[in-house]
Amino acid sequence: MPTRDQELFPLFANATALPGVGARIVKLVEKIAGTKVIDLVWHLPSGIIDRRYAPKVGDAAPESIATLTVEVLSHFAPPPRNKRVPYKVICGDNTGDITLTFFHSNHDYLRRMLPVGERRVISGRIDLYDRQRQMSHPDHIVGESEASNIKKVEALYPLTAGLSPKTLRKAITAAIKLCPNLAEWHDPEYLAKQNWPNWKEAIQESHSPKDESDLIHSAPARMRLAYDELLSNQLALALVRHRARRLKGRSAKGDGSLRSKVLETLPYQLTGAQKRTMSEIETDMKSSTRMLRLLQGDVGSGKTIVAMFAILGAVESGGQAALMAPTEILAQQHYETLKPLAETAGVRIEFLSGRHKGKERSKCLAALIDGDIDLIVGTHALFQKEVLYKKLVFVVIDEQHRFGVHQRLELTDKGEAIDVLVMTATPIPRTLTLTVYGDMDVSRLDEKPPGRSTMTTRLVNLDRLPEITTALQRAVDKEAKAFWVCPLVEESEKSDLAAVDKRYAHLKEVLRCPVALIHGRMKPADKDELMASFASTDKKSPKVLVATTVIEVGVNVPDATIMVVEHAERFGLSQLHQLRGRIGRGAKPSACLLLYSTPLTELARNRLRIIRDTQDGFVIAEQDLILRGSGELLGTRQSGLQDFRLADIALHSQLLQTARDDTKMIIEQDPNLATHRGKALRTLLYLFEQDSAIRTLRSG
Ligand code: ADP
Ligand code: MG
Repeated sequence: MPTRDQELFPLFANATALPGVGARIVKLVEKIAGTKVIDLVWHLPSGIIDRRYAPKVGDAAPESIATLTVEVLSHFAPPPRNKRVPYKVICGDNTGDITLTFFHSNHDYLRRMLPVGERRVISGRIDLYDRQRQMSHPDHIVGESEASNIKKVEALYPLTAGLSPKTLRKAITAAIKLCPNLAEWHDPEYLAKQNWPNWKEAIQESHSPKDESDLIHSAPARMRLAYDELLSNQLALALVRHRARRLKGRSAKGDGSLRSKVLETLPYQLTGAQKRTMSEIETDMKSSTRMLRLLQGDVGSGKTIVAMFAILGAVESGGQAALMAPTEILAQQHYETLKPLAETAGVRIEFLSGRHKGKERSKCLAALIDGDIDLIVGTHALFQKEVLYKKLVFVVIDEQHRFGVHQRLELTDKGEAIDVLVMTATPIPRTLTLTVYGDMDVSRLDEKPPGRSTMTTRLVNLDRLPEITTALQRAVDKEAKAFWVCPLVEESEKSDLAAVDKRYAHLKEVLRCPVALIHGRMKPADKDELMASFASTDKKSPKVLVATTVIEVGVNVPDATIMVVEHAERFGLSQLHQLRGRIGRGAKPSACLLLYSTPLTELARNRLRIIRDTQDGFVIAEQDLILRGSGELLGTRQSGLQDFRLADIALHSQLLQTARDDTKMIIEQDPNLATHRGKALRTLLYLFEQDSAIRTLRSG
């Protein structure tokens, strides 16, 4: 393993190394930033407190933040044991008086801080109380000689309950002091043209905004940091890709015999997008470099048959193929879909999962190494050490955002010439594809097979719940199955689970049919079992499945035709789209009911309209990116899309393009990052924890 530059060590220490951050505080800091010192460096202010307003007491405007120079006049302690009355200190100048109030305070401390007859500079919010000026718990109280210690403009940071601004500010200030001067990794000409500060200055400036304009995304210091982050992202992906390209692949030339057998029996015509994608994959497989391709297509766009044709091509050329799904149940479903196709072609297919134990398992493993299996379908279990293949040449990964760059790298690291196809049902906007899959070639299935069942989407106010449950009962009486999704707010998982529980209890009471509950805290095996029972045609199986968003994972329940999403206004567009994709997979018409509660924000209203009016995943994904306010939505983090700390993809998209061009040039001129700038770029990669990309350099 390469070692991180020594000069960066302090930044990657635990945040408890900072003053005022102990075991308790670090838990709160983790919620908003992270556990390392660097996480606090990246925690940029979201606002400012302007303390420049310094009027005479008699002129101080109520509801303003003011910094006053006053004389302490008198103290009034509250009656003993009466906690509701504050301790009061009257201060003033030649224009008027102001009362400072303190609740639950240490009286001795206040007498020491504010001795009668002395002059003090105080800063805080002015309020009117009984027509008297008052300041409750001033933010600052200092002697006149220390007035300069009060920052004229103070940075305001995103906080979490229990963490005081003072504690956080102190920790961040200390974290910034630990930032070393680093050699410049940007092209000096570009830097000068942009008028950007160097890295350390950029950190300092971002944390000491002078006014609102220093907080916006286009402020020079913020631009610089955003560009650092985007460049590290693009460079890491490019290095991984570059390495994969250098590894020799094998040229798999299938003769098409198996594919034509399957094609003959297909009950439909391939769409144009499917044909195009299949030929892109075929070209990759024939070439002598490795294939690393992303197959992107909405739910129902027909990815399975495309993947199967690629698999058949690999088997035709005399190799073995594997298909890996993120969960047991998805793997099982893939197996069942692929089995008839495989049998048509005479391809030997098997299923392997963590559940297979003992004899069954050893039989399967033996068959794999003997080459008696052509296609194996399963979960991560497929890549355990003891699973050996006779000649694995092709891997399909059905990913639900769980297969990151690191894992992709590990797979190509195995040193064997394996072609990889990753399937994703999330139609990511083009700009984001660059940041998540910049190391892969992309094929898009942007055309849906014809003749799909009809789907209606309706927006319904939550206060019409009784009508909805009545309609749901009618549908269930006619054999329909329904998902009922309740949102989960990250902040307080417990209370959310309570809300889901309540809905579950309520539906169980009002509906005359089996109702089940599934949520993220359940064991994976229990979840799988429950989903399987919901999917089964058994009379006693659940007809309504109340769920948190765990069902986002692409489980197929063909006779589920109803999707109810409660508090749809709290979900992002892409999430709603994914949820809706769980229904309408069979021949019957289906309905999606989006329940919202009022009042709706303008943004939420727009989102709901878009989802009602279109079913095109790519359109929705682009709109989502445009509408997405940073962090405003549930689940943007779980969505697995690249999480940037400093860059905002919607606002910095031009920078992303520049980072991409810059990266291209770096890879062409200095692929081993060996030059002076290259070495500085390595530091940049470490800074953003792209260590696995650096590994490609050493072992390359
Ligand atoms: P995805 O995996 O992209 O969600 P699937 O591969 O499961 O989609 O396909 C969804 C359904 O559409 C399947 O029942 C499949 O048989 C069918 N299908 C696939 N391609 C076509 C096509 N060209 N014409 C008609 N039906 C198709
Ligand atoms: Mg599928």
